[in-house]
Amino acid sequence: MSRVVLATRNEHKVAELREILADVCAELALEVVGAGDFPDAPDVVEDGVTFEENALLKAQALARHTGLPALADDSGLAVDVMGGAPGIFSARWAGRHGDDRANLELLLAQLADVRDEHRAAAFVCAAVLALPDGTVRSAEGRMPGRVAREPRGENGFGYDPVLVVDGDGRHAAELSPEEKNAVSHRGEAFRAIVPHLRELLG
Ligand code: IMP
Repeated sequence: MSRVVLATRNEHKVAELREILADVCAELALEVVGAGDFPDAPDVVEDGVTFEENALLKAQALARHTGLPALADDSGLAVDVMGGAPGIFSARWAGRHGDDRANLELLLAQLADVRDEHRAAAFVCAAVLALPDGTVRSAEGRMPGRVAREPRGENGFGYDPVLVVDGDGRHAAELSPEEKNAVSHRGEAFRAIVPHLRELLG
């Protein structure tokens, strides 16, 4: 069985991506492993200025280090009226990396005077497949919605409590993990990578 490595140590993400890629992995006899299996893999400085650049940096570094095909993603929330911010700064919008509550509270405060019709936003995800020989493929996924006035829902993470999902009306944090995978930016981006996995690893 050959392996493909995911450029994340976040076990939640590894589980989510295993689920999204389950069919193609069975078909190609591929095993998905996390970067946690390679403890001496280098920490990558994410100094790209787009989701795609940052995903590419992570995937290429891991492919080089492990000699295995590597998959990486980079994602965030893009608010139209803010010119696409928080964007690549989503995880540290309020100053401290990964403080989800502070990040969404700052965002709600910034948008306090913005009328409902101007609150369009989307979760965006860039997914990249990098091979040790330098071959790369990328894809993007979006989960459109609008920024709510108050958080709602207990599921998910990050800005999920404040994105009202287009065509659904619930906040992203009110979706079950299965419901979110079916419509999420990450689901869409990685499903678009599947044909590349077939082409390059099949
Ligand atoms: P990452 O770099 O893909 O781990 O995500 C960057 C940041 O974007 C996270 O810390 C969240 O703030 C935000 N984000 C990305 N994807 C989601 C999502 O599915 N729901 C809510 N927030 C997200």
